[in-house]
Amino acid sequence: CGIFGVVGVTDAANFVALGLHALQHRGQEAGGIVSHSAATGFNSAHRFGYVRDHFTKQSLMESLPGPLAIGHVRYSTAGSKAAAIRDVQPFFGEFSMGGAAIAHNGNITNAIALRRELIERGSIFQSSSDSECIIHLMARSLQRDIPSRMEDALRRVEGAFSVVAMTRTKLIGVRDPLGVRPLVLGKVGDGWCLSSETCALDIIGADFVREIEPGEMVVITAEDGVESVRPFRPAKPRFCIFEHVYFSRPDSIIGGRSVYETRRQIGVELAREAPVEADLVCPVPDSGTPAAIGYAHESGIPYGMGIIRNQYMGRTFIEPTEQIRNMGVRLKLNVNRALIAGKRIVLVDDSVVRGTTSRKIKDMLLDAGAAEVHFRIASPPTAWPCFYGVDTPQREKLLAATMTEDEMRTHLGVDSLRFISLDGLYRAAGEASGRNDSCPQYCDACFSGEYPVEPADMIEKGFQM
Ligand code: 5GP
Ligand code: SF4
Ligand code: MG
Repeated sequence: CGIFGVVGVTDAANFVALGLHALQHRGQEAGGIVSHSAATGFNSAHRFGYVRDHFTKQSLMESLPGPLAIGHVRYSTAGSKAAAIRDVQPFFGEFSMGGAAIAHNGNITNAIALRRELIERGSIFQSSSDSECIIHLMARSLQRDIPSRMEDALRRVEGAFSVVAMTRTKLIGVRDPLGVRPLVLGKVGDGWCLSSETCALDIIGADFVREIEPGEMVVITAEDGVESVRPFRPAKPRFCIFEHVYFSRPDSIIGGRSVYETRRQIGVELAREAPVEADLVCPVPDSGTPAAIGYAHESGIPYGMGIIRNQYMGRTFIEPTEQIRNMGVRLKLNVNRALIAGKRIVLVDDSVVRGTTSRKIKDMLLDAGAAEVHFRIASPPTAWPCFYGVDTPQREKLLAATMTEDEMRTHLGVDSLRFISLDGLYRAAGEASGRNDSCPQYCDACFSGEYPVEPADMIEKGFQM
């Protein structure tokens, strides 16, 4: 999901709409904005579909007045897949000291247990979302102000959470102790903003100030600026390495590093680890593009756009049902026959999950007359599901969970198949000596099976680590 908030500007909701538009790649199912103005109190709008289809309409934006607003774009990882509008964030709660709205990116790994406990104690849930627990935990806290109630609530929550929240006067941002999901602070005019990624600061002309640190909570007002607190026990950060590989936008900066540069460097590492004789390096657009550029550069093999992407389609994977995903590949990608025919192709993509995309693309390339297809993947085999906010399928559906690399090569029908090593990936992400196996610098559970937070709900449901 993508989250964005701003305080201290005129018509904050317009800034949030722009920010969410720049974060649309993080969630395409639905979006919502809550604003507050002294005259009208809290106002909210939640819609299915793209930000640009709704939050550009003057009548809707005029219904979201005020200098303070937050928003969310949704990508369902927890909660119902056939999303109901009641699952669309931000969520709102009314407390004795006033209202508050929250928007959450990540996934709460003890949400089932928390929900059960809260329902037993009288909470009435409105949605199927794990994030709603936070509101109910806040309602039960005995603290006298909303930020302190949020601290109380989040201390009971396990898993991955970057949260943007607001009261009548305050903008609040929090990252979980491991900092699994991103969150950055920006300065816009006299105001402040919080965003999942820096690419959304650029769109509103905000200056990047710094990242919110793992385990940090910031409480921001227009008058007093940023106050920082540390509600959690300190922990060694474990940022999601897959943000670098796929999830974030390449024009964002994470941990002081350009995402584009990391991806390009993955391609360089991949060309060193898995060279092959070929005529053309082609990305699967757009997710494979920077790595393909790096591969071509390092190998000396020409780069070309052998696959053309229809710009009017979203991200295939993020379409939540299997059927839509299956159609998606052809709706989205087509082969550039004139370039491909007769050539030995190095095909570069960011990841193999179920293998559905890769198989179809390989078929399309062979139909177009490619002589050979060598598949190079910019991440290690995805053998484990993510429980921290990226929607990987159940373990059984992951190709790499059930097949060896050689079996995958046969299954995909390509001439060769190679994945970047975990160490190569860490090097590309700026860790010169690779992965520190005794204390890894990132979360890489979907590749390694080493989960930095025990996925309690999933274990209860029978998942075996
Ligand atoms: P597959 O066809 O192997 O199931 O899916 C792999 C494709 O899905 C890749 O092209 C990748 O860009 C895309 N993808 C989109 N979202 C995700 C995600 O959340 N996780 C992973 N691993 N791949 C994703
Ligand atoms: Fe990221 Fe993978 Fe960890 Fe999920 S399991 S947080 S996708 S690295
Ligand atoms: Mg892709």
